[in-house]
This record gives sequence, C-alpha cells and structure tokens, in this order.
Amino acid sequence: MHYSIYKRSYSLFQALENWGNSGKSIRMRVFSLLQSRIVFNMNVPKQIRTYCPKCKAHQTHTVSVYKAGKRRALAKGERHHKREKKGYGGQKYPLQREFAKTTKKQTLRLKCKVCGYMHHKDGIRLRKLALT
Ligand SMILES: [Zn+2]
Repeated sequence: MHYSIYKRSYSLFQALENWGNSGKSIRMRVFSLLQSRIVFNMNVPKQIRTYCPKCKAHQTHTVSVYKAGKRRALAKGERHHKREKKGYGGQKYPLQREFAKTTKKQTLRLKCKVCGYMHHKDGIRLRKLALT
C-alpha cells in the first residue's frame, strides 16, 4: 500500500518535471495524465439481447456503429451555405481546427432480429470501439 502510493507520487513528480518541455496548457497536461489511467477501448458483442420498444419485450439485436449519412448537395441548408460563401469574405462560421478531446462519443445502432425495428443507444466517450 505504502509502496504503491510512493510509486504513484513519484510518477506524478516525474510527469511534472517533464511538463516544462512541452508546449501544452496545464489543463491539457492534467487531462492527458488522467487519461493514462482510464481505459478508452471497449469491445462490444455483435449480438445483444435487449429491450425492443416495438415488440415490447427483450429480443436479440444486431449491433453496428452509427455513422452520419452523406451530405446532400441540393438540401436547402447546403444551397444556402454555398450561396453565403460566394464572393468576398470567405467562411461564415469558425471551423473547428484544434480538438481538445481525444475521444468520441460512439453511438450503437441496434436492429431487432424479430421485427427489424432499428433504434440507437447513446454511447460513452471512447477512443476505440470494436465489435466482436
Ligand atoms: Zn422487435
């Protein structure tokens, strides 16, 4: 017990020493230090038995990872954006270039094997999600 505390404080001290060299902010440094202690990878089975809102009972569901669909070029918003970007003065809203977070919220897509009803399950922040 005592040894583990000593070891942990030592590694913390070491990390503090190393911080002087990197150009990261203190908040980022603390976060990356915390990250080293949390597991960000998760294995999810390809089939899950869970509640189906349509069948109103537990059924086997096939699991896939949700991905945003393709943007339609002729949708109203896209046409408006294209029009706004035209001419003098370029981008109309700031684009996210630097990301503070290193993880993404992964949404699971569940399809009922009996009725085919599809619903989503809100995910947690993960670096890597693997379907097994
Ligand atoms: Zn169902």
